[in-house]
Amino acid sequence: MIGFDYVKARDVRDAVSQIARDPNAKFIAGGTNLIDLIKENVAQPRRLIDITSLPLAEIEDTEAGGLRVGALVPNSDLAYDARISKRYPLLSSTILAGASAQLRNMASTGGNLLQRTRCLYFYDTTTACNKRAPGSGCGARDGFNRMNAVLGWSEACIAVHPSDMCVALAALEAVVHATGPNGDRAIPFAEFHRLPDDEPEIDTTLAADEIVIAIELPAQGFARNFSYLKIRDRLSYAFALVSVAVGLDLDGGAINQARIALGGVAHKPWRVPGAEAALKDQVPDRKAFAKAADALLQGAAGFTHNNFKIELARRAIIRALEQAAAGMPQSQSVTTIL
Ligand code: SF4
Repeated sequence: MIGFDYVKARDVRDAVSQIARDPNAKFIAGGTNLIDLIKENVAQPRRLIDITSLPLAEIEDTEAGGLRVGALVPNSDLAYDARISKRYPLLSSTILAGASAQLRNMASTGGNLLQRTRCLYFYDTTTACNKRAPGSGCGARDGFNRMNAVLGWSEACIAVHPSDMCVALAALEAVVHATGPNGDRAIPFAEFHRLPDDEPEIDTTLAADEIVIAIELPAQGFARNFSYLKIRDRLSYAFALVSVAVGLDLDGGAINQARIALGGVAHKPWRVPGAEAALKDQVPDRKAFAKAADALLQGAAGFTHNNFKIELARRAIIRALEQAAAGMPQSQSVTTIL
């Protein structure tokens, strides 16, 4: 454990000003990931700026017919909010598939976006890891890589993003609202997380002196036809081997609009817009879904221990699409796969 200063931010402006002054400072809200990183000596912030008293814990209607979720809304409150569970049940479902009840009570919406990979080598400071120590190598490539990426990886890093909630936010095409010394910014969700390329130490496009203040959900919530299918080693409190978030808009027996996002397979929630567009006007059947799965997994390549994820993902995509089309989403309490 390292020593650090602890201060409270008075308001959003003060939080931004404090982080801009100190490159070794970190914001802390629920602390469900950062405290682990500090305890494992992966992160060594010299100053923690407590943002828990900022007025960012509201869920409000937007003029566009969607919802604006404050960055400090706890994950549990978000999952069980009546507006979310009714209009965005896909989002509720992903949140309830993640972590444990205690962690969901503490974790914030903004923090969920910013959690770091759970790659084993990232947390083991005795091993090489380009994400933790740039230029040191990647222990996972030739190591135990069962949980690692099969899509979008780079020579430098094959880590995956661990969040369930972000898979739904990707499928829903949420917008991240951030603010910093240069003003406010709206970041489309697809542009918020980045692939590792040759800078795996950078997880997102958020600048170091910016803070996430809200997540905006568009009006379309796919409340009638959706599913979140999460395949994992244990039935609870485990990260996804593969997960699939699906939203379908059906019209007269055909697909009007499809959204599919994958978790557990890449450095960010994985979408292929062409695969979704190809489903438009198709009959929602296994043949169309298998084509979509192939398009989503084009270029997938695994490593010693995770090649199985590619076929697992193909089957999970088809099954999640079938569940969504039938209006029978995967339950997060009854985990039998329909
Ligand atoms: Fe580090 Fe990424 Fe390699 Fe894991 S996969 S050891 S996080 S560089």
